Amino acid sequence: MSLSVDLKDLDVLISNAKKIQDDVLKEILTLNANTEYLQRFLHGSSDKDLFKKNVPVVSYDDVRPYIERVANGEPSDVISGGPITRFLRSSGTTGGKQKIFPMNDKHIEMLGYLLALSSLVTSKHFSDNVGEEGKKMGFHYIRTESTTPSGLLVSTALASFFMSDYFKNRPSKCNSEYTSPDQVILCPDINQSVYCHLLCGLSQRDKVVVVNATFAYVVVQAINALQIYWKELCSNIRSGHVSEWITDLECRNSVSSILRGPNPELADVIEQECSHTSWEGIITRLWPRAKYIQCAITGQMTQYIPTLEFYSNKLPIVSSTYGSSECLFGINMDPLSKPQDVSYTFLPNISYVEFLPVDHEGDMNSIVDLVDVKLGCYYEPVITNYFGLHRCLIGDILQVTGFYNNTPHFRFVGRKNVVLSVNVETTTEEHLLKAMARATLVLDQSTNLMLTGFTCYADISTFPGHYVFYWELKAKDVNYVFELDENVLAKCCYALEESFDALYRKLRSKDGLIGALEIRVVQQGTFDSLMEYFISQGGFITQYKTPLCIKSSEALAVLENKVLARFYSKKNPALDL
Ligand code: AMP
Repeated sequence: MSLSVDLKDLDVLISNAKKIQDDVLKEILTLNANTEYLQRFLHGSSDKDLFKKNVPVVSYDDVRPYIERVANGEPSDVISGGPITRFLRSSGTTGGKQKIFPMNDKHIEMLGYLLALSSLVTSKHFSDNVGEEGKKMGFHYIRTESTTPSGLLVSTALASFFMSDYFKNRPSKCNSEYTSPDQVILCPDINQSVYCHLLCGLSQRDKVVVVNATFAYVVVQAINALQIYWKELCSNIRSGHVSEWITDLECRNSVSSILRGPNPELADVIEQECSHTSWEGIITRLWPRAKYIQCAITGQMTQYIPTLEFYSNKLPIVSSTYGSSECLFGINMDPLSKPQDVSYTFLPNISYVEFLPVDHEGDMNSIVDLVDVKLGCYYEPVITNYFGLHRCLIGDILQVTGFYNNTPHFRFVGRKNVVLSVNVETTTEEHLLKAMARATLVLDQSTNLMLTGFTCYADISTFPGHYVFYWELKAKDVNYVFELDENVLAKCCYALEESFDALYRKLRSKDGLIGALEIRVVQQGTFDSLMEYFISQGGFITQYKTPLCIKSSEALAVLENKVLARFYSKKNPALDL
């Protein structure tokens, strides 16, 4: 298939998923059959049946030693028939320990192709004119890459994309689809970068039709930065002069050329909008042509939906892609779907993907091919890619929501193993998100506060153990006095408990084996500190996902130091009849 982007390609892909998947597996096995890893199981064969019979389904930790050997200087063919030219670093906020994944730079072209394909699907639905007179205000960042002991670069998947020759020479570049020049994305100092993204976006406010970032959290962060910097940004626009602290020369020069001299009229308009005491609708007020916000909003990102809706007067939020450092899996073919209904269609030409039913009970033969998944069932994807992962579990749980031709699409349910439990109950990520949706409704109806971050943990240091939620709250209006109403917060605790499953409620209300749920309200900025903590451990903002549950005692300490007040559920949740 050619890499020029055409929606017809998508039809071809989803109409021939089975054949394409078989061809991809054949190609991967032919390329990798003689690696040290596969040789043990396949003895040089590239036969699909033998692969299914002999190659074990593994977790990352099983292949970590092989990957680390290559990172430490052994030849690529320990795991990969083709050369490994770099490593991708995963965020490490979901599973705890960071992972690196082998990659070949040729893959970047494929990543670019898929992102362009997904943008095309979305642009078509919204007629956004990006690349004509419309532009995307994108909040994208890179950070200085590190290297393995053998000298190979390690970066996030998107950083490797933005730093690639493919991105530098991309066909859409001549249309300047972003308000920011590439030098702003490539600026290694994230503070300078976010400031300049905002400056470019504000000075071209009449062109912005899309607000875009990887994850919802990154958009919320950008608005937080705007709240800090708006006066300075206006003064830059008024004078046509970029602040002195923007010292990255390439970034500075490229932004200066966008400002094109003093613009006091524009500065006045922006100043007026930002001076409102409430920032409700700030995105649509500052960028009135914006048609949608494009960022991942599924999984743990759902917690940012109310905040983004508040800032944008409920602009559509389009969650376009689902992917990871292991592989870019799928795109959202129905960009108009509501965040809670988003599904991703797996593209069959990237990797070979199998699906292990969540209820497999140790029966690995229940694993199925992409086209054999069943509607409504829950699965964990298992990846075999071109660069050294063979039947590797990725730790996400997906539910089949339908099919385009015979290519399935999936709802992102959450990470596996992210559960709260203090007794025998298992509260899943999905339970947590549903419960949070109910509790924030109580908050919204009874106060002028909004939730800007949450996480939780199971406190088993006392008996009975209980669930602890950390909530960061913010007044919707700057004139509003930040007051915590004990009754409302106790009701929020109750709303959470009431939403958990029957076993939780029985253990809590009848058996007394779970204690009253607690909400600890933390100071503003706490979740930024939490992010900084994870970033100091090697994560990066564009792939950062606030963990729904915290297990690390260091991360818990970051939160504990900022607790303002504690609230408990005051009554037992109802039992099922
Ligand atoms: P990383 O490898 O650090 O980039 O993280 C990849 C993980 O991010 C995936 O395995 C998912 O758990 C999560 N993720 C990626 N895309 C989405 C999405 N669209 N919605 C929700 N979670 C996502």
